[in-house]
Amino acid sequence: MPTKTINDEIDKEFEDILKNIAQKGILTIESIDRLSKLFSIEQISKVKEIMGEIVKVTFIPSSRIVWMKLGTDRDYLLYPKKYCSCMDFYLQGILKNRKYYCKHLIAQGIVAELTKKNPQSIEIVERDENFKEKVTQQLSFEHFLI
Ligand SMILES: [Zn+2]
Repeated sequence: MPTKTINDEIDKEFEDILKNIAQKGILTIESIDRLSKLFSIEQISKVKEIMGEIVKVTFIPSSRIVWMKLGTDRDYLLYPKKYCSCMDFYLQGILKNRKYYCKHLIAQGIVAELTKKNPQSIEIVERDENFKEKVTQQLSFEHFLI
């Protein structure tokens, strides 16, 4: 299945779905259905399991915030709606020079909405001096290894 380029129309629909998720406070079947039409069923079928692995790391005292998707063998760095360090994003976004949402970015968007009233549920607080150890060294930029 070819992946879709994110245009303004897709972006607007994604925003609307996210707003709906925030209002309801849960990920409804209707929202999953709309997301599957917007992106791909393959991507959306994996989003639910990824959601539990999305964390927001706040570094103190700088208040620097880093979103990450934690995994058993690798972690990914996420910049909401802009960048993910996974292979899919590299192949579909960076190499094709286009805006793209991988399953991690979709999951992050949903998690951010669902935790708006309770942000500490996904927050990890770290000291600034641990930034390198916690973020840089745990990241696997697998596409640099090909
Ligand atoms: Zn990704």
